[in-house]
Amino acid sequence: MRIYGVAALAACTALFFGVTLLQSSSRSQDAFDWVGHTQEVITSLDGIELRLSKAESGLRGFLLTRDPGYLAGFDVELADVSASTAALISLVRDNSVQEERAIQLARAAGEKVDLMGRAAQRTRANPLGTNTDVGARLRAKALMSTIVQQIAAMRNEERRLLAVRTYNARNEVQQARALLVYGFPVLVLLIGGVAWLIRTGISRPLANLLDVVTRFGAGDRSARASTIVRSVEFRRLASAYNDMAARLVNAIDTQEARQQSVEMLSEMAQRLQAIQADGELSVVLGTFMPRLLPGVAGALYVHNHSRNMLFRISSWGDLQSSPEMFPPGDCWGLRRGKTHLIEDPGADIVCAHVADCAAERRCEPILAGGEVLGLIYIEGRIEGEQRFRLDALMESVALALVNDNLRSRLREQSIRDPLTKLFNRRYMEEALALESGRAERNGAPLSIVMCDVDHFKRFNDGYGHEAGDILLAAVAGLIQSHFRTGDIVCRYGGEEFTVIAPGASSTLVQERVEALRMAVRELTVLHQGSKLGPVTMSFGIDTWSAGGDRPMSTLVLEADRALFKAKRLGRDRMEIASSVTESGRTELASPQIVRLQASG
Ligand code: GH3
Ligand code: MG
Ligand code: MG
Repeated sequence: MRIYGVAALAACTALFFGVTLLQSSSRSQDAFDWVGHTQEVITSLDGIELRLSKAESGLRGFLLTRDPGYLAGFDVELADVSASTAALISLVRDNSVQEERAIQLARAAGEKVDLMGRAAQRTRANPLGTNTDVGARLRAKALMSTIVQQIAAMRNEERRLLAVRTYNARNEVQQARALLVYGFPVLVLLIGGVAWLIRTGISRPLANLLDVVTRFGAGDRSARASTIVRSVEFRRLASAYNDMAARLVNAIDTQEARQQSVEMLSEMAQRLQAIQADGELSVVLGTFMPRLLPGVAGALYVHNHSRNMLFRISSWGDLQSSPEMFPPGDCWGLRRGKTHLIEDPGADIVCAHVADCAAERRCEPILAGGEVLGLIYIEGRIEGEQRFRLDALMESVALALVNDNLRSRLREQSIRDPLTKLFNRRYMEEALALESGRAERNGAPLSIVMCDVDHFKRFNDGYGHEAGDILLAAVAGLIQSHFRTGDIVCRYGGEEFTVIAPGASSTLVQERVEALRMAVRELTVLHQGSKLGPVTMSFGIDTWSAGGDRPMSTLVLEADRALFKAKRLGRDRMEIASSVTESGRTELASPQIVRLQASG
């Protein structure tokens, strides 16, 4: 890290300054010590010269006057000279040249002291004698000259040394000062740099991170630390924090989404449980499914047991494959009793009720006790939270369908004729309204067959009412078997029946009716061990087709009119309703037509 580098540099610089200053002050101290030492040597030389001069002038005065007063302090001075020269030798021991001079000086001074001491001794012993030792005097003079020369040489040398040492001492002081003048600002700059790096590298990122953490804690989920920081450690810390924040936000989002799912599913379940009438299931699903599974299209198909068909009762989103009904065998999900998922066409078998489309398709069968209740068909990818929602809503929808089934069974009882098990007239009217609307929307044809047992009164009269009932049930079965599963066969009343055949053209219906007519002629029923019959039936047919001239609203009326015509023309036949101009409707109006018109 950069801070460590600069801090280490500052510390090294400070250490270098400290050591250099210490060395410099130590050298200055030495230089000043040497200056003091030189002055001590000079002082010592001055002292030797002065004492020798004083002793010599005192001796001279005594020799001239014989006054012992001149010799006051003479002996002490001589002793001092000897001591001083000895001290001088040890003082200049560091300098061999000076030491040699000091030794010669000491020797000459010693001899001189000796000569002066002896001269004083002789004169003290014989104050009146004359001093005639010329040799001694000359020797003393020469010695003095030597002494003066040695002292001068030594002093000169010491003065030279003093100059050098004074220069050195000053130099050391100047160097120390320069070090302080130039080095200290550098040290201050380095310490400032460390402080700046600490501020930008630690304090500022730390403050930013603290701010981000505080904002996140206060609920700002977008709070993220900047990773554009110089410090590698802070960069790592910021990215680690950002990762943690992202995971936390994700977890919170998931939890919130789950909470929202649970609330929505609960709302839907409450409404599904409160359903009272047909059609409400479709309304509830139409409202909640787009909210629960946004972005995917789908439909709920409900299994109609009596017709063994799946009918679409609700859809949402932009559906590509949405037949209004299809038989259960068309769906691989229903066949296998488990989810049939086509993520990629060609990867698995596509159900017959599914058209080609690019989206992922999914059939979720709704089963209860092994019985098919319905199917949820989805177009689009289900993932993440939607998977949970789909699983949960399947249960609610299954429960709603179980309830719906119970209601339907009750209703079945109210729409079925107990004798023939065919739909009753009330249901026929409902179904006709439904199929009329569907045919108009799809543009597919819609055919109506009205039929009536011929001379049934006679049959009743001949074999009895019970036999008549058995025949009616047998005829009902025969009619049912001659039409498709999706066709609606009703007992219109008495021995009259109606067939609503959605999608069937006039030609197709005529073929079926003709086959039925022939089958009726062959029909025999056993009653109390004897064969009853034969009977015949008359049929009236009308067909609506898109773009044709038959109006939808008069289908039953026209079929009934055609039936009446068949009766009139001799029975055991079928008649096709002709156009308004051909039919001569007014003349042929039957009591049944009057009845239909009266009922609305
Ligand atoms: P047509 O060929 O003109 O239709 O003659 P029909 O005798 O069949 O016609 P009509 O309407 O005169 O008689 C219908 C008879 O059907 C009268 C009634 O007793 C009988 N019938 C109606 N409902 C039932 C029923 O549920 N069971 C029995 N056994 N007979 C019924
Ligand atoms: Mg009849
Ligand atoms: Mg009748």
